[in-house]
Amino acid sequence: MLTPGERERYDRQIMIGGIGEEGQERLKGSRVAIAGAGGLGSPIAIYLTAAGIGMIRMIDHDQVALSNLNRQILHREEDIGRKKVDSARAKLRDLNRAVEIESISETITEKNVSRLVDGCDLIVDAMDNMPTRYILNRCAIEKRIPFFHGAVNGFEGRAMTVIPGETACLRCMYRGPVPQEKFPVIGVTPAVIGSIQATEVIKYLTGIGRLLTNRLLVYDGLKVTFSEFMVHRNPNCDHCGSPSG
Ligand SMILES: [Zn+2]
Repeated sequence: MLTPGERERYDRQIMIGGIGEEGQERLKGSRVAIAGAGGLGSPIAIYLTAAGIGMIRMIDHDQVALSNLNRQILHREEDIGRKKVDSARAKLRDLNRAVEIESISETITEKNVSRLVDGCDLIVDAMDNMPTRYILNRCAIEKRIPFFHGAVNGFEGRAMTVIPGETACLRCMYRGPVPQEKFPVIGVTPAVIGSIQATEVIKYLTGIGRLLTNRLLVYDGLKVTFSEFMVHRNPNCDHCGSPSG
């Protein structure tokens, strides 16, 4: 049940057809893992905290650096040198004390990923490298929980939602090794893509709308275009193509 304060706080979103108090209660009862507390993780965490998700677990091994501040809007100059998850937790708690914010300062690996996201209803990809995205994608498929992919480069960004057992996964779309190197980003790009990922999470949890599944959304900020590419499930996918899948 929602408290009078919650009804007031979330009034404008409870008004949305299909959400209502029931949808708000679902958000309140949800547990979300956000992998990455940087450029994408910042807007995702801010909007999901504002929306009243019950528990948000921020996972990031890194510390805040000066060069992060052009895009990682959870962090401030005084946070330089601080663990990103601690900096994130402080800002998110200031925004909404009712949301439980867990912070885990660890590098995501094949060995620890299952433990890191344990108990969460879904995983949001706010990473900056493909190897870790593959680890998260595979873990989500094994746990049969949704995976919300997002990626940025310069003025471009991409997003796709994966429902294990039903839709194409990240690995169905991308194969092979991917170079891991420093890439350019302007801060507004992760703001756009992170907002789309947070939108997808809210839609999934409240059961409204049409999810961004089996289609990759590609955003070009320089041309201001949104393009969609159909993605088909690969029966031989080494992540989701098992006989039981
Ligand atoms: Zn797949």
